[in-house]
Amino acid sequence: MIGIGVSSGIGMGKTIIKKEPTIKLKKNHIDNPEREISILNDAREKGKEQIEALYQHAFNTIGKKEAGIFRAHKMILEDPDFFGQIESKIKEEMVNAEWAISEVANFFIEMFEAMEDEYMRERVADIRDVTGRLIKIVLGIEDTDLSNLTEPVIIVAEDLTPSDTAQMDRKKVIGFITEVGGKTSHSAIMARTLEIPAVVGLENATELISNGDYVILDGDTGNVIINPEREVIEEYSRKREEYIEFKKKLEEMRGQKSITKDCFEVEIAANIGTPKDVEGVLLNDGEGVGLYRTEFLYMDRDRLPTEEEQFEAYKEVAVKLEGRPVVIRTLDIGGDKELSYLPFPKEINPFLGYRAIRLCLDQTDIFRTQLRALLRASAYGNIKIMFPMISAIEELRQAKGILEDVKNELRSEGIMFNENTEVGIMIEVPAAAVMSDLFAKEVDFFSIGTNDLIQYTTAVDRCNGNIAYLYNEFHPAVLRLIKKVIDNGHKEGIWVGMCGEVAGNPQLIPVLIGMGLDEFSMSASSMLRARWIVNNLSKREMEGLVDEILKLPTAEEVKDFIAQNVNIN
Ligand code: PEP
Ligand code: MG
Repeated sequence: MIGIGVSSGIGMGKTIIKKEPTIKLKKNHIDNPEREISILNDAREKGKEQIEALYQHAFNTIGKKEAGIFRAHKMILEDPDFFGQIESKIKEEMVNAEWAISEVANFFIEMFEAMEDEYMRERVADIRDVTGRLIKIVLGIEDTDLSNLTEPVIIVAEDLTPSDTAQMDRKKVIGFITEVGGKTSHSAIMARTLEIPAVVGLENATELISNGDYVILDGDTGNVIINPEREVIEEYSRKREEYIEFKKKLEEMRGQKSITKDCFEVEIAANIGTPKDVEGVLLNDGEGVGLYRTEFLYMDRDRLPTEEEQFEAYKEVAVKLEGRPVVIRTLDIGGDKELSYLPFPKEINPFLGYRAIRLCLDQTDIFRTQLRALLRASAYGNIKIMFPMISAIEELRQAKGILEDVKNELRSEGIMFNENTEVGIMIEVPAAAVMSDLFAKEVDFFSIGTNDLIQYTTAVDRCNGNIAYLYNEFHPAVLRLIKKVIDNGHKEGIWVGMCGEVAGNPQLIPVLIGMGLDEFSMSASSMLRARWIVNNLSKREMEGLVDEILKLPTAEEVKDFIAQNVNIN
């Protein structure tokens, strides 16, 4: 069986199935609403106590960041609006407390689920967790206790709530499998933090696997094998040993430079979406932030963020990074990311439409506010400004012109900023890649956005599942463009980075080293592995391979060639 591998490693052992009690809620007509409200309030208090205990447990055993989720849960329990709506439902419709809780919860769940942003959609898990807890308290249902496991087990569940994962004894839980979830669901994030191998999205897992079954799960491939033959167990035992050895090697990478055997030094940095993510960057020994996607600041609210709010966020990141560089990308909205409060034209091709820099150059008040905040924050750390979706020189010149205006404005107001703030562009549109020789004369750096560069170069919508098989980072056209951009950047003496997913791809890192890429920006958890790969390579050797690779006609051949010719052990 195959699910989605979300946390690396091999888990092997007996299973315990955690099934949520099936609660069939009934709508009861009540005649004493005050009594229901008092039941609701008691449950609310008890819920707060439970969550506080979970917070303390998580804080002591996992860490402050992960415990933070329970602060969010407590906030839901402290939200007067949320409880006001439940109370009104009880009073106006004369219904029982648990029914009212579930109705109001469903209202919010549907609202969040309808949002485009995956992060917001995943917040649905918080509402479910908290309201599920409340309903169980009201009905007097006890939860399965995961904190008192006596032997090592693999947990199989429909889903694991943050409350479940926070209770887990990491020495006893050697893996988990869930039916729902994706790479960014809470259970997946927790699994990675706790370093527990995990597979999610395995449909009907709680039906197909029984309590006490012996299961092997591979957190990289998503493979799950139930009651395997002895030879399979032996094969996976070997894999597990190798993985443990590999993890030890990665730990040794901490505090080291990212430098090839023949002394070509690069920067390994992280992609972040919020100031909170900086913790993960530091935890994984990142050398900086190669992409701060500022759109989350705009998506997390029901109006545009003010200059002050933005300034605080950018400053926080710069300060926390203590001098390490941070590339902050100006608003990249549109395409698949919309703002509820900003009208977007209905378009047939939103990815080719009114988005990112195009919107900013049209609605310059939004752009100016962001640039003011960015420049002000530049006084507090090593901030670099980056424009997304640039496709023509005029756009760059216009954006830089507005930046100069804003600088003059700040100067005349006597507000400090870093006069030497570097300005760069994302190379994610083929036109910019083809013209990179000329763009390089007008910017301080390039960052290649392969997520979009692949979709635009190969005309394959990155969100369309029907043609996902065509979306290929090994496509020779993409690799040729990347090489061109790096060469053109270097000819003009500017540094060239990459912040699309390809930068963290273990098969392509050697190729990028051969091409001379200077900076690699990826998810924080991939950074140590990337450093390990870089430190085991010889740039000169990779240069030779790049010449061969760029002659190959198909993605498949490129992939095979790399597999056969790059050995980094
Ligand atoms: C990219 O396009 O490669 C990129 C990093 O930006 P995003 O994924 O935010 O479009
Ligand atoms: Mg992009």
